[in-house]
Amino acid sequence: MKKKLYIVLFLTTILLSGIIALQLYWTFTAYKLNKEKFDGDINVAMQRALDSCKKDYFDSIRVVIVKRLSDPGTKIKLDTIRDQDTIHVGLEIGISNKYVGMSKPFQTTIPKFNHYRQKIAHKATVPEVVAEMSFYVPQLMDMVEMSFSFEDISSHSVQLRDFLKAHSNEPSDSVMAHNNIIQSGVYELPPNYRGADSVKLHRYFKEAMRQLHPKNRRIGDFSMVWSDMPIPASDFDPHHVEQLRYSESEQFTYKYHGFLFLQDTPKNTLYVRAVYDRAQVGILSEMVLILCLSGFLIVFTKFCLFYIILTIVKQKKLTELKDDFINNMTHELKTPIATITVAIEGLQKFNGLNDPEKTQRYLQTSRNELSRLDGLVTKVLNVAAFESKKVVLVKEKIAIDDLMNELIEAEKQKTTKEVSISYINRDGIGEIEADKVHLRNIMLNLIDNAIKYATEPVDIKINLTKHNKYAVFSIKDNGMGIPAKHIKYIFDKFHRVPAGNVHNVKGTGLGLNYVKYIAEAHGGKVSVASKVNKGSEFTVSIPLKNG
Ligand code: ADP
Repeated sequence: MKKKLYIVLFLTTILLSGIIALQLYWTFTAYKLNKEKFDGDINVAMQRALDSCKKDYFDSIRVVIVKRLSDPGTKIKLDTIRDQDTIHVGLEIGISNKYVGMSKPFQTTIPKFNHYRQKIAHKATVPEVVAEMSFYVPQLMDMVEMSFSFEDISSHSVQLRDFLKAHSNEPSDSVMAHNNIIQSGVYELPPNYRGADSVKLHRYFKEAMRQLHPKNRRIGDFSMVWSDMPIPASDFDPHHVEQLRYSESEQFTYKYHGFLFLQDTPKNTLYVRAVYDRAQVGILSEMVLILCLSGFLIVFTKFCLFYIILTIVKQKKLTELKDDFINNMTHELKTPIATITVAIEGLQKFNGLNDPEKTQRYLQTSRNELSRLDGLVTKVLNVAAFESKKVVLVKEKIAIDDLMNELIEAEKQKTTKEVSISYINRDGIGEIEADKVHLRNIMLNLIDNAIKYATEPVDIKINLTKHNKYAVFSIKDNGMGIPAKHIKYIFDKFHRVPAGNVHNVKGTGLGLNYVKYIAEAHGGKVSVASKVNKGSEFTVSIPLKNG
């Protein structure tokens, strides 16, 4: 049985470890996948945010550009050209005003031009299509920009002349002077041009991320990292990133859109990345349901297996107790039967009937044995009765001193050991309201045990005291005591303290269970304090009056 139990334990440990390992593996894999998706989503969100910023800017300048391109002073010339070698029909767009006559028109195709025409919901005019297209085609924007710039510079010609006068002795050539004017004059940079619409970018990025990860509670926990230079590919060390548990986006080029009219110089290009510090916390918060479920599953499986093992252990213990009980009962029942058989045989075979004194003795022995047998059968039957809760207490007022003295006398008569029993009613309790038969049995059981489990000379001290509304009986012996680890089981049915392989003291293991049951049925309780080789003290409290 023990071996089988070890096998069950071993198998369940393997099973549990397997389940836990598998759960951990799945959780970890799910986390890794989520992290990869999260990193990818940062890039998607950043692209969306940049597009939104761009769109905002276009929307804000669209009206102005269309208005200026529609000015009668500005001419937009569309020419179709047919390439001899290809079947594509090309389109040339020329922009001119009284300051600028573009020498080289911008070349595109008709389908491309139509694509931008269709982007505009209403029936679009040519200036509207050119404005729209210029947002997406830098060369065309350059042309638009050039035509506007010169127009603007000319309208500011007084300032320009003054400027040139002031800088006439500087070695700069006229082109440089123009550029200076363009950059610091009409289209002057805003003082904080770098952060100019980064607030918007921040907001758009956060919104896009929130849409992609609505359950992530740390979605706002990022920072935008700006730099003037692209990060060299070698510095993008994914291992390093992994170690820090950052979630990184790619580096995006970012142009402050106010630069749109300026030449495309490295100065107006910034690089931006969104960096999530402690992204793992947010990712885990998205997985909270999965984590809870898998935690619950592990705990539940553990509980189930623990419960199964506990049941097996209990069953095993019960089987052992049952075997013990049957062994003891066989002994207990056989002894009186054998004694009575011998007595009857003695009377029959050896002419015992002619000897009245012998007959009397044999009959007395048989009676004693029968009464012991009766007691034993009652004990067993009682347990069966408690099991189906059939015991009904018949309460009456009991003169406690009389009862105690009477049963102490009976116990002294019964035993062959050298016994001294003292009884003191310390608080002078007169009567107790209880079931007399059962109270008597309780006391008999406890005194019986005190005698049974003691070495001679047996010294038993019984004290009766009053505590609150209870009569408290203390039965103290100088016997072998009960080992600490058995104390909590001592009142369990069939439980006996093992005494090696042989039980030198006979018993059923039912007595104390009966004591506990009856004490509790009266509304009282029973407890024990014991030290091995020193003795035990059983305490039974019974309510003085039953309400
Ligand atoms: P039984 O005496 O028939 O075995 P009980 O239920 O009366 O059954 O007692 C259960 C066990 O408690 C006993 O087997 C014994 O090991 C232990 N026990 C009970 N009373 C005493 C005592 N006074 N001293 C030492 N051990 C005791």
